[in-house]
Amino acid sequence: MKCRLFHYPHELSGGQRQRVVIAAAMVLQPELLIADEPVSMLDVSVRAEILNLLRDLRRSRGVSLLFITHDLSTVAYFADRIAVMYLGRIVEIGPTRDVLSNPQHPYTKALLSVVPVPNPRLRRRRVILQGETPNPIHLPSGCRFHPRCPVAFDRCPNVDPPLVMVGERHAAACLLVNGQ
Ligand code: SF4
Repeated sequence: MKCRLFHYPHELSGGQRQRVVIAAAMVLQPELLIADEPVSMLDVSVRAEILNLLRDLRRSRGVSLLFITHDLSTVAYFADRIAVMYLGRIVEIGPTRDVLSNPQHPYTKALLSVVPVPNPRLRRRRVILQGETPNPIHLPSGCRFHPRCPVAFDRCPNVDPPLVMVGERHAAACLLVNGQ
């Protein structure tokens, strides 16, 4: 069998290519690894292997991992902290357990509502956001989420809410939290 070293990228599977990329990054002994959607193109079984590999590297090499994804269920697997972004701004940030068990921003709530739950008896009300994500070059006035927010009210198009603390190390940017 030909040594992996002499394979072309197209001769490797998706999971093998991801391992090569991770190995190449680790050669530099980084303190921070930025992984942008590292498992989104992989099938579920390989996905778990790559996630375990990243988690083990984090522990054994002490490397910090910035994991960028649209899949909140994946984040829940190993993130210590979650930052939820909408149109280039953090709208909620906090310890993973707090954000997932007690989401404060309507966008976070909508994202969580569509995460599949592996229990047929547990039914969650899905929040399907209406409309398209606005053009980031022409941001909406006030709260940038207001054209799609299911609980927007009259102040939302006029006031840009700052991040405010809603718990220990947990903050959200919404006029409905902490009586803004
Ligand atoms: S400030 Fe208004 S539009 Fe923005 S997230 Fe809160 S309720 Fe929705």
